[in-house]
Amino acid sequence: MGAVTMGSELPDKRLELLARIADEVRGCRACPLHEGTRNAVPGEGNPHAEVMLIGEAPGQNEDAQGRPFVGASGQFLTQMLVAAGYPRSEVFIANVAKHRPPGNRDPMPDEIAACSDFLQRQVDAINPLVIVTLGRHSMARYFPGEKISHIHGQPRIVRGRVVLPLYHPAAALHQGALRKVLEADFSTLPSVVERARRRRDTVGEAPVAATPVLGDGPQNAAGVPGSTRVAREVGPLPDAPVQASFGLIGITSPDPAPAMPKSEGTPRITPPRQLPLL
Ligand code: SF4
Repeated sequence: MGAVTMGSELPDKRLELLARIADEVRGCRACPLHEGTRNAVPGEGNPHAEVMLIGEAPGQNEDAQGRPFVGASGQFLTQMLVAAGYPRSEVFIANVAKHRPPGNRDPMPDEIAACSDFLQRQVDAINPLVIVTLGRHSMARYFPGEKISHIHGQPRIVRGRVVLPLYHPAAALHQGALRKVLEADFSTLPSVVERARRRRDTVGEAPVAATPVLGDGPQNAAGVPGSTRVAREVGPLPDAPVQASFGLIGITSPDPAPAMPKSEGTPRITPPRQLPLL
């Protein structure tokens, strides 16, 4: 991994776990993405982070350094984190794909699925209070079938954990109008964390592996492995702004359909079940 850092002076179990996952990532040949890369980019940050950010895949700079978000979009991300009161040393940053796709193309669904277990183990090890998804590929992991233009900046509870979907910093850098949207969404992070803390104090920690796990189930029609552990319950974060889009989007049946981008189609939606509000 790029450096795994932590607040205290002694290594602990989380640190060891993350280092082990990083070693496995460096040796992984489970999909073709490793071919032609210089470095794997497992992720880096504070093993005890309250906030975990999940991007899409390494780019050229990240491949060169073996660290996530170190190019122009990484600088932009760092600025927004600092402005929100979260220096990089306090958060953990990872991607849904750990090796750079050739030509900076998007990672393919089967590549994301192949890499999914690494990310899930990182989430389980860190057990963050809030997950921030950056871009549509990481968003799709938690909100399959949704459009980022519809749900950006709206925190929801996904299987017991607060997830805040945001635009990818690279997209915002290239489209001026998105920049202000992303900055505005990012500025809500402190209040989202505070609300998540209050929720945790009331209902407790998110269960381990509470979030979708891909790749361990049977293949769907597109040939992408699904999950045997997924029941994607999605609900609003208490004290969230009241707006129509904050209503429950429903609960999908536990089925093998993976949390993939829109090309995977719309997941099956059953009638919404209201989750208890605090
Ligand atoms: S992208 Fe993920 S699954 Fe593919 S080779 Fe790299 S670590 Fe393995």
